Order: sequence, then structure tokens, then C-alpha cells
Amino acid sequence: RGFSSEPSLQADSTEEIGFKGHGMLAPFTAGWQSTDVHPLVIDRSEGAYVYDINGKKYIDALAGLWCTALGGSEPRLVKAATEQLNKLPFYHSFWNRTTKPSLDLANDVLNMFTAREMGKVFFANSGSEANDSQVKLVWYYNNAMGRPDKKKFIARSKSYHGSTLISASLSGLPALHQKFDLPAPFVLHTDCPHYWRFHLPDETEEEFSTRLANNLENLILKEGPETIAAFIAEPVMGAGGVILPPKTYFEKIQAVLKKYDVLLIADEVITAFGRLGTMFGCDMYNIQPDLVSIAKALSSAYMPIAAILVSPEIADVVHSQSSKLGSFAHGFTYSGHPVACAVAIEALKIYKERNITEHVNTIAPRFQEGIKAFSGSPIVGEIRGLGLILGTEFVDNKSPNDPFPAEWGVGSIFGAECEKRGMLIRVAGDNIMLSPPLIMTPDEVEEIVSKYGGALKATEERIEELKSA
Ligand code: PMP
Repeated sequence: RGFSSEPSLQADSTEEIGFKGHGMLAPFTAGWQSTDVHPLVIDRSEGAYVYDINGKKYIDALAGLWCTALGGSEPRLVKAATEQLNKLPFYHSFWNRTTKPSLDLANDVLNMFTAREMGKVFFANSGSEANDSQVKLVWYYNNAMGRPDKKKFIARSKSYHGSTLISASLSGLPALHQKFDLPAPFVLHTDCPHYWRFHLPDETEEEFSTRLANNLENLILKEGPETIAAFIAEPVMGAGGVILPPKTYFEKIQAVLKKYDVLLIADEVITAFGRLGTMFGCDMYNIQPDLVSIAKALSSAYMPIAAILVSPEIADVVHSQSSKLGSFAHGFTYSGHPVACAVAIEALKIYKERNITEHVNTIAPRFQEGIKAFSGSPIVGEIRGLGLILGTEFVDNKSPNDPFPAEWGVGSIFGAECEKRGMLIRVAGDNIMLSPPLIMTPDEVEEIVSKYGGALKATEERIEELKSA
């Protein structure tokens, strides 16, 4: 199994470096998968549950990776995929050729997004590709507008926008930059809008938002407004720890962007299609973006697909420029893949027919209140969330300034306790996150609350032991 080019690597030394037979270099996994942690191998799914290869059942409290909105066994999505596979498994959308599912899905997406009028939809295969495409589209637009210097992007600390070169650059998480020579020089980062962690003594949420908007304005002025192309933001930050915008934040940020003619990109990869209790995050926070990225719940993750929504103004410029040049020379073999589009069309139909936002708003209060009832725990700094997304930050002394020793791995202890009890969540340092399928029943909400409570108690006990050791 030639895994390494090292000639000295003999069979028995592979054990030392931990190579035990898997051929996969796993994403976001420490070391060779299976070095000292055996991977959890998931085998099948049913509703809000997944089962591992040993038959153990888990409630999937992260909906895969914030994505299986309709759970793991929706027959209509399987039927849509199968029918399309039988009819036309693939045709592309280059050079004025395309397929009916991609044309239909573009219209469905435009009709569903009502925070403002949008003009066109461009398809990609992942959130990362969508955000990379945003950057290229904005550059293309500014070149066409005769302002070739307006090319810099501003994103926020702790944001997550993907892991390709450009989307990882936009992301504001150090692990995505360190050892990868990132971020790219045209990306700047501004404040993370996390009130609990970053507010000054006696500063109200509104004052905090004002300060952050002023900092953004100062950054734009320092760099020169003629160099700043766009600002990208998740309506609610996901992978950075489920961080909700403080009161008046988006109102004040949008005013600054308008003043300096800086485009606003809403990264709705997690928040689109009901997660917050509104169809889009832009509806929740009164955001009027120029561009939007969507993925994940677009197909309930049954097929990889992402899209960007483009304002009519930008779409018009791209249209006339590309007509002059002969083409908009950007796209992927699988842009508008007909099977992925057929599945997404069906997913959007289901969201409408089942009134998914109303369902979320019916079960979310118990989900939020049930878990926030644990806020008094001595190891919890903050529990925060909205709709069906929720994060918890573990700290000592209930203070954002007193982290637990990193080597204790408090978040990982909690994650392992959840797994033991049959619940899968996301762990990132001492932040843990939940983003369950939107189709959960009230009983499944109770199960999550109860398993969270059990895991928390066990984690508290473990920390007591660690403190007294
Ligand atoms: N943007 C956001 C807000 C995300 O949460 C993610 C993925 N978690 C991405 C972009 C990247 O999406 P993908 O992993 O499909 O490339």
C-alpha cells in the first residue's frame, strides 16, 4: 500500500506512524484517520437519526453538517433523484446549453427569496465554490464598471465561508489559515460581533453594534473606499460558535457599506430555508444583500449543490460585459447538475407544502428554552441560539476571560458524552453546536434536551475531577 514516498517506511513502521489501513485523508480530522481514534462509521439514516455500522442509533443533532434539513429518509427526494437519473443523469449548462431542472430551480430560488428582488442564480456544488464564485463575480463586475482597484473583501473574525483558497481566506478562523499561507492579501478581517465575549464594561448591545460599525468604517477609510469591493457575513455565524448579531448590528453595518459603495454578500449556506424560523436569515435581520450564497438545505444535502443569487444590477452588468467578451468564463462541469437540481426543486416544494418555517417556529421555543435552562451550569459561559441552531461555550467561572486549559478538552469531553448517549453534535474547542434536522418531532426535541442535560452533568463531574487532580 504505497502511501508514502519514503523508501525507509517498512511494514512494521507504518504502525508507528499510525497507518492502519485506511486509504482516506479525512477532512478536518487530526492525524491519519484511525491513528488513535477509530472513526465513527455511519451506515444509514432514518428521519432525525443515523446508525453506525454496529447498529448503534444516534439522534443527529447537527443534521449531518448543518444540512440534512428534511432528515435522512425523505422518499420524495429519493424519487426525484431516481426519476432524473433514469431520464437524464447529466448534461451541462455551458455555452447556452442547459437542462430543464436547472432552469426551473433558478426560478424557484428567485421566487422564494423575498428580502429583496434578485436577478439571476448561478449554480455551484458547495458553499466554498459558491463563495469563491462570489469573489470572481464581484471582481468581474468591478472590472466591467471601470473600477479595477475596487477588489478587497472584508470578512469577520470567527466567520466560516469554506475551505478552498479564497473561501478559507474569507473565513476568520486561524486554523484555516495557519500552515496554508492564508489569508490571501486581498482579504481583510473586521470584528466578530459577539456581544458576550467582546463588549466593553457597561456597553449595551446597541452601543457595541455602533462601535463595530465605526470600526468597519475606519477600516474602509484606512484602506481607501475605492479599494473595498465587498463585505461578506453569515446572518448568524455558524461554525465560529453560533454567534447571533447584536441588536441593530446589520442596520448599522449596511448603512456603512452603502455610504462607501461596498457590496454586501450574505452567506446563507447554513441559515437559508428555515433554520432560524424565517425562510432566509436576511428575512430575520432585514438584510438587503447584493449577493447571497446558499447550499446545504437547498437539496437537504441529498445531492451536492450550491447557488449564488445575484442582484438585478450586478446581473445586468455581467450580462452586458459577457456579451461583449463572448462569455462569462466561469463555471463548473456540475454547475446546475440536473439530478442535484431535481432534488433541490423537490426539497423547496416540501419546505413550502409543509410550511417548514411554521414547523420550526412550533418546535424551536422548547428546543431553545429546554437547553438554555442549563445556562446556570458552573461550566457554561453562554448558551445562545435562535430557531433550530444553538451553541454553547464552556468557560471557567462563567467568564469569557477564563478558558479551561486547552489540554482538558472540555468541548471534546462533552461531545464524547453526547456520543455515548446516542447524540451527535459539533465540537470546536470549547464551543459545541447543535443544528438538528428541521423536521424534528416534539419528542425528538425532548430527547436532545435530555441527552444534552446528561452529557453536561457528566462533563461537570469530569471537570471537578480534573480540578482536584
Ligand atoms: N459558508 C458557511 C456559512 C458554511 O457554514 C459552510 C460550511 N459549513 C460553507 C460556507 C462551506 O460550504 P462547503 O463545505 O459546502 O464548501
